[in-house]
Amino acid sequence: MAGKMLRASLREISAALKKGHVSSTELCQKCLSLIKTTKFLNAYITVTEDTALNQAQASEERYRQGQPLGDLDGVPVAVKDNFSTAGIETTCASKMLKGYIPPYNATVVQKLLDQGAVLLGKTNLDEFAMGSGSTDGAFGPVRNPWSYSRQYREKCAPTSCAQHEDTSWLITGGSSGGSAAAVSSFTCFAALGSDSGGSTRNPASLCGVVGLKPTYGLISRYGLIPLVNSMDVPGILTRCVEDAAAVLGVLGGHDPKDSTTVQDPFCQFQLPNVIDMKNFCIGVPKEYNAPGLSSEILAMWSKAADLFEKAGAKVMEVSLPHTAHSIVCYHVLCAADVASNMARFDGLEYGHCSSADQSTEALIAATRREGLNDVVRGRILSGNYFLLKQNYDNYFIKAQKVRRLIATDFAKVFRSGVDILLTPTTLNQAMSYQEFIKEDNRTRSAQDDIFTQAANMAGLPAVSIPAALSGEGLPIGLQFIGRAFHELQLLTVARWFEKQVQFPVLDLEGIMDPLDSVSHQEKSAFFS
Ligand code: GLN
Repeated sequence: MAGKMLRASLREISAALKKGHVSSTELCQKCLSLIKTTKFLNAYITVTEDTALNQAQASEERYRQGQPLGDLDGVPVAVKDNFSTAGIETTCASKMLKGYIPPYNATVVQKLLDQGAVLLGKTNLDEFAMGSGSTDGAFGPVRNPWSYSRQYREKCAPTSCAQHEDTSWLITGGSSGGSAAAVSSFTCFAALGSDSGGSTRNPASLCGVVGLKPTYGLISRYGLIPLVNSMDVPGILTRCVEDAAAVLGVLGGHDPKDSTTVQDPFCQFQLPNVIDMKNFCIGVPKEYNAPGLSSEILAMWSKAADLFEKAGAKVMEVSLPHTAHSIVCYHVLCAADVASNMARFDGLEYGHCSSADQSTEALIAATRREGLNDVVRGRILSGNYFLLKQNYDNYFIKAQKVRRLIATDFAKVFRSGVDILLTPTTLNQAMSYQEFIKEDNRTRSAQDDIFTQAANMAGLPAVSIPAALSGEGLPIGLQFIGRAFHELQLLTVARWFEKQVQFPVLDLEGIMDPLDSVSHQEKSAFFS
């Protein structure tokens, strides 16, 4: 029963807490216990056991007095380790920030806590959120829970047992791989990721969960350690669309501490239960049939388009002609921002400080060599190159112009009557770590984001939804992209699709069994 309890959606668990079928403390303990059982996934960098239990107790008290703070009261959540958390180490998976304890909470973290959510810990990522594998952090790679699923093991010869120190397990995608793994392995009910080029949607797709990147400006970035300032958005990872909408309802809205959040009042929204597809026009961008797209994902994508058509939606092929330039454009803009954002990590003001003492320059160089991995240092180097006086127009300004063309492509398509774009999220299903490390991660991650980066450059909302299992029993996600600030419409369509596909629940047999076996302690009416 405990296993079943942890597999509940956020809505279900919130209802169970309200009805008293489970207490906040019991629930928190179950999650902490599963985090221990699944430690080999390396999803968490820090588990805040004591504070979580204190928060859970306070929540339990509020329920006892009939005064829960909101729908998230007592719900265990996790936060990517690039969001500042007061009194809790925030590392960005980098040696540079090891031991850094922020004095304040990111606005989104504060909003979760204000609703009574229980923070279980900080999740693993690629260093400073640069990557698409969650393989490049200072605390080791994250393992995809589907590596250990019954579904995958039945199709493919079991690669390894959870405890084995081999490299045949599957990667989670990234850079919010820790959050995706935490949600998909049932250790929490929702998690925050960040999304500058796809970091929420990519791991959501490979781990079989929902990954929402809201419109730029809808949610505060205050306290999110920046990657690409003009593209960064906090992302939401949940096990179903309705849950993503619920968390968005808590997080959205203007923040005086982030001047890029819009002033308009944010209305919480309820997704409609009955959805008539006849009212929607779905666009299928032909350029997204890109080189390297797996035939299985291509087939799934076209099946999804048929599904919409059969339900009465208007489905039309559209063109986003500048798609092919989005990767290069993103990387120039990203590197330029990284070069300036990382300037503060010099060993003098923030973070790690080397013991080199020959000169200030030598100290800074040694600090960065010791504190940052080669992906981060590579981006600092290229960013500074793009920003050199003689290169600025040819790289940075040109990339900004291309970014405008990419945004205009979307604007034209939406003006032509398309409501939502339907695309793949990733080129492939999750690959093994063994296979992943054969190639230079920088090249690979650049290719992997082909379908996700354009939405960041245009500031549009996008969501990845688990669509099907591949022949090997692994999740395949599809992406929906909507008009700016039309999250309600986007999630309405996504929810309709989710209902049609009935994506199977991850079966972590053998791993969740110990939890299932304590079923006698649970109230049998848990879901009633
Ligand atoms: N994979 C992309 C990168 O490495 C996107 C990262 C992100 O969205 N945080 O830059």
